[in-house]
Amino acid sequence: MVIRQVVNSVFNSCSYVIAHDGKSWIVDCGDVDHILPSVEGRVEGVLLTHAHFDHIFGLNNLLAIFPAIPVFTNQAGKNALLNEKLNFSKYHEEPFVLESIDNIKLINDGDTVQLDENLQAKAVFTPGHSPDCVTWIVEDALFTGDSFIPGVKTVTNFPLSDKALAARSENLIRELAAERTVYPGHALID
Ligand SMILES: [Zn+2]
Repeated sequence: MVIRQVVNSVFNSCSYVIAHDGKSWIVDCGDVDHILPSVEGRVEGVLLTHAHFDHIFGLNNLLAIFPAIPVFTNQAGKNALLNEKLNFSKYHEEPFVLESIDNIKLINDGDTVQLDENLQAKAVFTPGHSPDCVTWIVEDALFTGDSFIPGVKTVTNFPLSDKALAARSENLIRELAAERTVYPGHALID
């Protein structure tokens, strides 16, 4: 498994390409033209850490290229993908709503997504920054989105943020991070 970071044009959010055995999965989807050069083989699917605009704005473009791929999120994430107010894109120049509801695959806390025969992603719900936040565990990698950015205070001033939940989620992520590498939703990694 190889993980490549891609920095997007909106708020410098980070997407990640997980390349494995000649196939790729994407964690959060910003600029598709930034992401594609890091992709190996075909894109098999998308794991979302949450559905804030800066983490999803490329999804329609990606699905135009790979129409059949699943986009994994939870019910709150689905709601935000389909609502420009909930995903905050309404307040940017380009309101965003996911065009294809059929691509959304709902996950529950603790669910495992089979990325490949011998590679899995486990969903750990880490709400607080927003209600739909998911941290994904893939082998020794931890994709935390905006639930945990090392050295940065978690943002909890959105209408649907919950400070207490965010603190609880952060503690959980710190435990998970003890033996893993964190790939956050913003900030450059080495
Ligand atoms: Zn966010």
